[in-house]
Amino acid sequence: MSRSVLTHLECSACGKRHERHDLLNLCACGASLMARYDLTSPRLTALRDRLSVRAPDLWRYAELLPEPGFPISLGEGFTPLVPAPAAGERAGAPRLLIKDESANPTGSFKDRGLSVAVAMAKALGASAGALPSAGNAGSAAAAFGARAGLKIHVFLPIDTPRSFFGEVDAYGAVLHKVAGHIGDAGRAMREQLASQGWFDLSTLKEPYRVEGKKTMGFEIAEQLGWELPEAILYPTGGGTGLIGMWKAFEEMEAMGWVAKGRRPRMYAVQSDGCAPIVRAFAEGKDRAEAWAEPKTAASGIRVPAPFADRLILKVLRESSGDAIAVKEGEIAGAAREIASLEGILPAPEGAACLLALKHLVRTSQVRATDRVVLFNTGTGLKYPEALGF
Ligand SMILES: *Cc1c(COP(=O)(O)O)cnc(C)c1O
Ligand SMILES: [Zn+2]
Repeated sequence: MSRSVLTHLECSACGKRHERHDLLNLCACGASLMARYDLTSPRLTALRDRLSVRAPDLWRYAELLPEPGFPISLGEGFTPLVPAPAAGERAGAPRLLIKDESANPTGSFKDRGLSVAVAMAKALGASAGALPSAGNAGSAAAAFGARAGLKIHVFLPIDTPRSFFGEVDAYGAVLHKVAGHIGDAGRAMREQLASQGWFDLSTLKEPYRVEGKKTMGFEIAEQLGWELPEAILYPTGGGTGLIGMWKAFEEMEAMGWVAKGRRPRMYAVQSDGCAPIVRAFAEGKDRAEAWAEPKTAASGIRVPAPFADRLILKVLRESSGDAIAVKEGEIAGAAREIASLEGILPAPEGAACLLALKHLVRTSQVRATDRVVLFNTGTGLKYPEALGF
């Protein structure tokens, strides 16, 4: 029997309703589609309090996800929320918690989005999927493609950390190396997409990666006893996680899982070598201009022109948050600081969040009493060059 209370898809810009049984990318108006659920369904009665006996992966929230109809889980999601008092104390926020996404099957939170998106693409009849990636999304898509029996084409910039190439290949996906950055990889993919009949799995260009990532919002609430923290620091590339968590908070409020009007302030963290969202936010714009020469070793946030810029900026404003550019040259040191103080070797993207936290404390945007959740979005083990080992 079906568990999911998914009813339809809705355009994030024009509001048009779309069928959930169709394999869809964008609305005809060009904007992202969002999954909508019947949040008053009797299937949700007392669900919150029935969750604790379920398996520790993101599919524990099956009612609030689409339903592929076959098992795909490798244990993705339900990652630890680890108190980080030593790093927190030093930064001036002793109630710091690290959401450690390096515990996911392929070592990053990209597993969340791609588990759900690859499964749904397969279930709705795609014959192959394709995506541009800075590394982690490619590994995740390739792994879940192997799991679901869906051929995956991954387009990676040629200067992606080398370990990612071997990984994508080992999972049986087709690797395409492209000169330039992720935007160039996207262009190279789109040149072949239609003629090859691949389904576009690019972030926020299909409706379900963001559904997988929203489970980070459910988990933080569940792990904090159905309270939300005061602040969330999130390394922002395409912005899927920010947008997804904000959606989760909205859904939880509608179901009465958390109190209304107490959502966290959302902070987007970027490197000063690629900070299109920081610049647009500071200028009060609702669209971000492309960053001319994106340069950062934190490859997951080397996204010069995020497709969902409008949605990212909206979340930051609605949450009374901010966008912070950290110094590129300080990221590797911050990774060592987290590793040596807390025993977690973060991806450079996660390390950047520690630098942002220090800035927020200095500017009194974060206070010592605040509960702060810092996202370590991946493992540092895949970035030996960037982290200097
Ligand atoms: C992709 C990625 C990001 C950025 O995530 P978005 O949700 O696309 O903003 C951050 N960190 C790592 C390690 C990533 O792989
Ligand atoms: Zn539309």
